[in-house]
Amino acid sequence: MTSVLALTGGVGGAKLALGLARVLPPGELTCVVNTGDDFRHLGLDISPDIDTLLYTLAGLADPVHGWGRRDDTATFMQALTALGGATWFHLGDADLAMHVERTHRLAAGHSLVAISDDMRRRLGIAQRVVPMCNEAVRTRVRTAEGWLAFQDYFVRRRCEPAVRELEYLGADAATPVRELQTLATQPGLRAVVICPSNPFLSIGPVLALRGVREALARCTAPVIAVSPIVAGGAVKGPTAKLMGELGFEVGHAAVAAHYAGLVDALLVDDDSGCAPGQAPWITAPTLMQTLEDRERLARCVLDIADRLAAAPRP
Ligand code: GDP
Repeated sequence: MTSVLALTGGVGGAKLALGLARVLPPGELTCVVNTGDDFRHLGLDISPDIDTLLYTLAGLADPVHGWGRRDDTATFMQALTALGGATWFHLGDADLAMHVERTHRLAAGHSLVAISDDMRRRLGIAQRVVPMCNEAVRTRVRTAEGWLAFQDYFVRRRCEPAVRELEYLGADAATPVRELQTLATQPGLRAVVICPSNPFLSIGPVLALRGVREALARCTAPVIAVSPIVAGGAVKGPTAKLMGELGFEVGHAAVAAHYAGLVDALLVDDDSGCAPGQAPWITAPTLMQTLEDRERLARCVLDIADRLAAAPRP
């Protein structure tokens, strides 16, 4: 039974998800994962954030790159290069099996939810890994060159073009997974955790699904977010650059504005620049370098949730 529901993107979110998985009893964590980054490449259906969660929770993630499987080989990419194929998106040999199998099962009519659940069981993961919806939702960004599909911006162009606007195509029409639909009233739910993923690119698509913002605002369980800003910037990736390009001052306040009205606590590494009353700030060491850091932050989040649940609500 789910006692903690984590909303997450890829690498940053998966760090805390791993911490939560390790401190909670097996089976009590459900990770609802962004699929706005999903795309079709070389005829394959690729779900980067789901795979990051699966590989991280299974202990298979590549610690060097932050994506793909550890100790993977590159025979496929070398052969593809020799044949003049597209090389801008790296697909390791073992990783390729995931994409081929997912594509095959989707074509056979299986849902992304069912496929992801079967994959996590086969990889020996006790926690549930659930895509935010079964339908295609595609994040795209508007730049000086016009609209770019997410992976064209993120991987092919290495986040270089300045972003003026974001869109989550298909989010209006998609049906959020049951875990999101029932989030407001789920009995026994101990906490909802918004992991320190990119608020715009990774959590944004989840919040754009019909009814999710409303459900979070009404949720009877404490909703705790962890800011992905550490020491005034992003630990990795385009979060800080994007914030500036979208017109926000880089810092926790932009995260707080994004989650305004949705969270009972926002964990930040330093609240010295945080305006009083703007968000329910709580300071905590939010940088996760070691496995112990991940577990410590997970315990901290759960402690805060339990304290908030025990306190009388205004
Ligand atoms: P992606 O989907 O793979 O790009 O990854 P996410 O969106 O899940 O995570 C990217 C965010 O994670 C960035 O904004 C980073 O600042 C943040 N991040 C990475 N490591 C840490 C960490 O140790 N602590 C915190 N608080 N944020 C982190």
